[in-house]
Amino acid sequence: MISLTLKANPTFADFTLRRSVFPFAEEAELSHAPSLAHMLRTRIAPTPSGFLHIGNALSFITTWNWARAHGAELILRIDDLDAPRTQDAAVDDIFEQLQWMGIDWNEGPRNRAELQKTYSQTLRLGRYREALGMLWNAPERRVFACECSRSQVTECTCRDRGLTHVPGKTAVRLRADLDQALGDAVIWRKEDLPAYQLASVIDDLDLKISHIIRGEDLKSSTVFQKNLARALAQAGWADAEAFHLIHFMHHPLITGPAGEKLSKSAKSTSLIELRRGGLTRAELFNQLDLQAASRHLSK
Ligand SMILES: [Zn+2]
Repeated sequence: MISLTLKANPTFADFTLRRSVFPFAEEAELSHAPSLAHMLRTRIAPTPSGFLHIGNALSFITTWNWARAHGAELILRIDDLDAPRTQDAAVDDIFEQLQWMGIDWNEGPRNRAELQKTYSQTLRLGRYREALGMLWNAPERRVFACECSRSQVTECTCRDRGLTHVPGKTAVRLRADLDQALGDAVIWRKEDLPAYQLASVIDDLDLKISHIIRGEDLKSSTVFQKNLARALAQAGWADAEAFHLIHFMHHPLITGPAGEKLSKSAKSTSLIELRRGGLTRAELFNQLDLQAASRHLSK
């Protein structure tokens, strides 16, 4: 468990001027000397593959509370790379539920049109591809191509086969450290799209995120992403070292009656359904154990 009292990392003093990383977005201009508040940046990053549920609510409200308590900027980033699973209704649901919860953000799309025009991850495919190329061409290559089908995934033996990466036919994985729960996770999907892990690391770097608050279920992702950032740094990716300055905090999850993880496919816990059943904002905030979530933020 860690204290929520912030110690500013002096290295973040370098971040005196931030510009939006999104194409076409207006560049942010600082008209006054940067203060501590300008160095603190966190984000919420929903995936529009289903409707937001109370687990998302806990995570986003905890992040928002933290941001507002520390004068940090909050960025909304919608992880919409998984095109076939991204639904317009789910995108609209993100905006509607955030607004209903009273969560406001300093940077990011305000609606679906803005997402598609300016902020969509699909507009940043070139950036992710650049990272893949750098990892692949690194003098000490730490990634490898994999031709396993999804059903074979647990026993991938492609690590030492020296396969060529054929976009659309092979995936690319990162060699894991020994202690990694995720193993040699995919960083580039067979469908020739970046995997969540790579897109998330590149976005967090480009957005100059200083603090990431996420559920405990993503602890193994955090470990993997740090490893990926190390590989990027070794490959010469500018700023990849900055990933290690990010403070990660993990909050406990809300679980179902049988201790199961909430899923977006479980309609019963979606905010939209609960609201149809009469849930008010006050009831939501009362029912979520927000203090516990904050108290138990752990590294
Ligand atoms: Zn494989």
